[in-house]
Amino acid sequence: MRYTLSMLEKKLRVVKQIEGVPVVGACERCNKQFAADPHVIGQLAMAKRGIQEQFEVHDCKPIDSIQNALWTVRRATESACLQSSGDSSRSS
Ligand SMILES: [Zn+2]
Repeated sequence: MRYTLSMLEKKLRVVKQIEGVPVVGACERCNKQFAADPHVIGQLAMAKRGIQEQFEVHDCKPIDSIQNALWTVRRATESACLQSSGDSSRSS
């Protein structure tokens, strides 16, 4: 395992997914979050691409502006409350 380089690069991490489809991604470096377009939720390729595109164009700043981080957390909490009953590991 070597991850000296990856610590310097911005990196996308999926923070929330529904049935294997990513709905919210976050940058590991600046902690900014990217939500998939509601229209493509459930479509794996489209959802991934939408998140990836937002990630690639975002203004990546290492966490420094506390305000921005708090705002992100607040938004994440709100959306988590709305969908708290979803269970992604269920299969029928
Ligand atoms: Zn970033």
